Amino acid sequence: MNDAAAKREAGGAVALETETTGVPGGVPGTNADVVIVGAGSAGIAAARRLLANGLSVVVLEARSRIGGRTLTRRFRGHPLDLGAHWLHAGPINPLVRLGRERREPLRRAPVEGHVFVRGRPGSRAQGAALDRAFAMADRAMTQAAKGREDQPAAKALPPMGPQGRRVAAIHGLVSGRPLGEVSLHDFPSMEYADNLFIAGGLGAYVERLARGLPVRLGTAVHAIDWSGQGVRVESSAGTLHGRAAIVTAPMAVLQREAIRFVPALPDACREAIHGFTEGVYEHVVLHWPGSPFRGADRLASLTGGRREPPGLLTCIDDTPFHFFELDQPGAAGFDRRDPHAPFRFAREVLAEHFGHRAIRDLTVMHATAWRHDPWSRASWAVVPPGLHPIRDMLKAPVGERIWFAGEALSRAQWGTAGGAWEEGERAAAEVLGQLAPRNGASGSRAGG
Ligand SMILES: Cc1cc2nc3c(=O)[nH]c(=O)nc-3n(C[C@H](O)[C@H](O)[C@H](O)COP(=O)(O)OP(=O)(O)OC[C@H]3O[C@@H](n4cnc5c(N)ncnc54)[C@H](O)[C@@H]3O)c2cc1C
Repeated sequence: MNDAAAKREAGGAVALETETTGVPGGVPGTNADVVIVGAGSAGIAAARRLLANGLSVVVLEARSRIGGRTLTRRFRGHPLDLGAHWLHAGPINPLVRLGRERREPLRRAPVEGHVFVRGRPGSRAQGAALDRAFAMADRAMTQAAKGREDQPAAKALPPMGPQGRRVAAIHGLVSGRPLGEVSLHDFPSMEYADNLFIAGGLGAYVERLARGLPVRLGTAVHAIDWSGQGVRVESSAGTLHGRAAIVTAPMAVLQREAIRFVPALPDACREAIHGFTEGVYEHVVLHWPGSPFRGADRLASLTGGRREPPGLLTCIDDTPFHFFELDQPGAAGFDRRDPHAPFRFAREVLAEHFGHRAIRDLTVMHATAWRHDPWSRASWAVVPPGLHPIRDMLKAPVGERIWFAGEALSRAQWGTAGGAWEEGERAAAEVLGQLAPRNGASGSRAGG
């Protein structure tokens, strides 16, 4: 559905009301057919699909902006993503498919990266050795994941010396936790090949996709009562009634009981929610015109130093901006009361590799802190060893009227905006299957 269509569909949108008034054309006694909690990728995808299929929706969003863990902000006039930036797994990513349909400015991410050894460009052989170590690790993990018993993903890595430590550090970064804390059965299910970027930022793109949707900002949901018919959703802006709810709040937020369910959720559902651990991945935004990096959007591996950053994305969009990435152990080392600690850390590590003269024109512009944000509490949800069924466990609806959606439920695209989108669409399709026949709309029309 294009933006014009979304607007048209949203013409019948309901405004949040503090009393039960009924939706024109909807079921008497409800404010909307479906109440969606959260206006991130999953919530937006669900709202678009439901509206396109004739159901009324209202999206309640705690923050004063749309997009959740996607967010584009301007730095010195240039748009930069402070949350998701990569469109991973192009061939299966629904945001790529939709982007192509809408003729969005997508570009392929380069495959080649930089390898620096003690601040100097590494040889071709050093780059090839790292590539081989990645290939060996991937083969070993894929093979070991076929075993019946789950185990920490780190245990499947063959001994590979310093290259192995580098591979483990990078996989740990993209997992959100060190590989010793990640389920081997879950980890290799993620597709990472064929990545893309979008000009103007992924956050801005997701925000465009929400245009015209009935989103109520600054509205935190604190309870969902499903004891009677449908759902009764209590929020900071009043109470709403719906026939069903789709909850896309992050797992780490649900674990803190930010939303009370009445009656309590079934045990299996609670266990699944509480099974996840918090994945941490943070961007430190650098402006560094004199950096030694050439070519746009390349990952750089800095090796041979006492400290090696697990991720560095250089010359973003061919600008002097770079992301110095923080992994969970790195971020955990900082004192929360000192917001400049990541700034100093990035400078120290880069000075260690390239020398103090080389970083004279480096400015650290910003460091994200999604792990401390009350509406995310983490960058994404991680499955610990032994708990790999929890993503699927959460897909079962509760009382045939509450569905969970979001990145945590996606198996092939966990921890991504594309995975969240896919799960929002899945939940919406199931809600349509449940509610649409009585409305006269057909679930088979679902297509967004
Ligand atoms: C630094 C960083 C880098 C990342 N990099 C990438 C990347 O390169 N590529 C990629 O694909 N993914 C990346 N991700 C992950 C990606 O951002 C997320 O997986 C995805 O955006 C999650 O979407 P979601 O809809 O599941 O959740 P969210 O986007 O978190 O949306 C949930 C929404 O619910 C709202 N909410 C929470 N509680 C309540 C409540 N009680 N009431 C009302 N509203 C509530 C929140 O405010 C939020 O807007 C990154 C994440 C981070 C933090």
